[in-house]
Amino acid sequence: MSSLTSSAPVRGLKIGIIGFGPFAQFLTQTMIKQGHSIRATSRSDYSEHCARLGIPFIRDMDEFLQSDNEVVLLCTSILSLSDVVKSMPFQCLKQPTLFADVLSVKEYPRDVLLQALPPESDLICTHPMFGPESGRDGWHGLTLMYEKVRIRNEAVCSGFLHIFASEGCKMLEMTCEEHDKLAAKSQFLTHTIGRVLAEMQIEPTPIDTKGFEKLFEVKESVANDSFDLFNGLYVHNRFARQQLKNFEVAFDGVKHKLLDRMNE
Ligand code: NAP
Repeated sequence: MSSLTSSAPVRGLKIGIIGFGPFAQFLTQTMIKQGHSIRATSRSDYSEHCARLGIPFIRDMDEFLQSDNEVVLLCTSILSLSDVVKSMPFQCLKQPTLFADVLSVKEYPRDVLLQALPPESDLICTHPMFGPESGRDGWHGLTLMYEKVRIRNEAVCSGFLHIFASEGCKMLEMTCEEHDKLAAKSQFLTHTIGRVLAEMQIEPTPIDTKGFEKLFEVKESVANDSFDLFNGLYVHNRFARQQLKNFEVAFDGVKHKLLDRMNE
């Protein structure tokens, strides 16, 4: 059995989270349950929330980076990543650290982080293909995509991946480029259609078909995600632009077929 899938206990990691929004809070619950030592920092003040979870909230970024993290997990919005990274005083790091991100686009954080990180820092780019809704009842069978971009400390890296593997996630190693190509065709398209349906304010009717119920689910599934997230999926995935064009062309094509038949 590989160290990723093994159920043997792995020692707790010291993990510092940057950006303590909804997704970070969702991940934190499981990491605390697994016995990792978590501390968080964020633009907004989450000190009360962290106190309830029994973890420290460190407002000051210098102090946060000095706090002996083995892993720094970036959970900021896609749009704010570059500013957040620019504001990080890397000279405060006390040891070579594994940086990991969970952004829903992958080439962009890889490039930003490779440019900014000290050369001795390791980097793994990941995308959990689930969120607080789909992962509410556990992560079993849900996919974690990852690329080991620059790893020297294999022990810390596999300890980090074990967080997901031990919950039963499907572990999928692929390049950031491959992820972005596929995500534009799947996740970005889902969000686009969900947003269009939300604009149309679709609501259940007493005579819903199974198909319509699924459409409504698509609308609901993106409703809780921030517009920043959707915007980031478009702005920082170079393959999303083509998908939006394909969507427009396909919509026009379907409309014209209908109108042509009507005029015949
Ligand atoms: P989000 O709206 O994408 O990000 C919210 C986080 O970004 C908060 O921590 C927020 O900090 C921070 N932030 C936003 N603008 C900022 C700024 N100008 N400066 C500094 N920080 C800023 O919501 P999310 O759902 O929590 O997602 C977080 C990350 O996880 C995103 O990159 C997303 O792509 C990824 N992800 C999300 C899901 C999901 O299901 N939601 C699934 C997989 C991956 P404050 O709260 O302190 O203001």
